[in-house]
Amino acid sequence: MDKILVTRPSVPSFEEYSEEIKRCFDIKWFTNMGEKHQILEDALKDFLKIPNITLFANGHLALENAIAELDLPKGSEVITTPFTFASTTHAIVRNGLVPVFCDIREDDYTIDASKIEALITPMTKAIVPVHVYGNICDDDAISAIAKKHNLKVIYDAAHAFGVEKNGVSVLLYGDASALSFHATKVFNTVEGGAICYKDSSREVRYNDMKNFGIHDEETVSFSGGNAKMNEFSAAMGICNLRHFNEECLKRKNVFEHYVKRLSDIDGIKILEIKSDTKSNYSYFPVVVDGVKFNRDNIKAKLHENNIESRKYFYPLTCDFDCYIGNSYKGSDNIPVARRISQNVLALPLYADLMLEDVDRICDLILAGGK
Ligand SMILES: *Cc1c(COP(=O)(O)O)cnc(C)c1O
Repeated sequence: MDKILVTRPSVPSFEEYSEEIKRCFDIKWFTNMGEKHQILEDALKDFLKIPNITLFANGHLALENAIAELDLPKGSEVITTPFTFASTTHAIVRNGLVPVFCDIREDDYTIDASKIEALITPMTKAIVPVHVYGNICDDDAISAIAKKHNLKVIYDAAHAFGVEKNGVSVLLYGDASALSFHATKVFNTVEGGAICYKDSSREVRYNDMKNFGIHDEETVSFSGGNAKMNEFSAAMGICNLRHFNEECLKRKNVFEHYVKRLSDIDGIKILEIKSDTKSNYSYFPVVVDGVKFNRDNIKAKLHENNIESRKYFYPLTCDFDCYIGNSYKGSDNIPVARRISQNVLALPLYADLMLEDVDRICDLILAGGK
């Protein structure tokens, strides 16, 4: 039997993609904000119902640049969570800023806003929350705190493509949100990312930031890096966007089959999608109790059966080799994040995963995960 991976990218047909890139060959324009780049930006604005988006070479550079654009004094503190992908914490540190770790909520693993204020000092300048697994952060509480203490808010929205609350895109929260279009994400441009934002006055600076700080032919305003999305990636995005809704429905179907099989099992907690939320069904993490079900045993059992799952997210970013010696503030007081990280396992989820395979995965978990 074929190996089942934890995720598999959604792809257009080879013919559809070839057709899309034909023009790039005809006019020999491969990068530097070409036609495909423009078409994708416009299409994404429409699709996501947001006023502004700036494409980047990948999600990490979108996030790193969104934070850099705030121009915070070096050494400023940024409140964030350690229950995330390496990119979130790295983006803060690589900007010369200091991460301060806040605990997460028990029910959806996003930042626990009720614990933010206790971490604020005169050095605190920003909050970087993460919409983990597409779960929506409590933006009302976060923005109220940010306003009260004059903090900036940049969301890591790498998991939140297409996610809406009460019909409004979550990409409109905060000062800006960073998306990832990596091949493993629900919408991909092979590698890619974007910054989404309400305030259109940021657009010029974001565009200059991804192109060496070059403002026009003779003006280089600052020492920017290179983070441009190329035409071949933009073309992949254009193709994938045509099929996103269809792919999302297929993922929903798989997601709901997992829910049917794994809800109301003593010792297993699954994600609940709230009634005000339009989900993108990006991940299916289960959190086990460690007694009736053991995470590492389940992972091993699945692996024996040619099924890959991921400890997503373990270890916590504050425990990475590169950070553990720093004893960043907050890292000794994140009991919920520690417990979830020890017991969480992301199960395979992608559009073409067969329901029979979901059944097989659930049977293995229920029978042998002890
Ligand atoms: C994928 C991801 C990123 C980084 O995106 P890339 O496009 O891979 O650079 C950042 N944050 C989170 C939470 C992610 O999952």
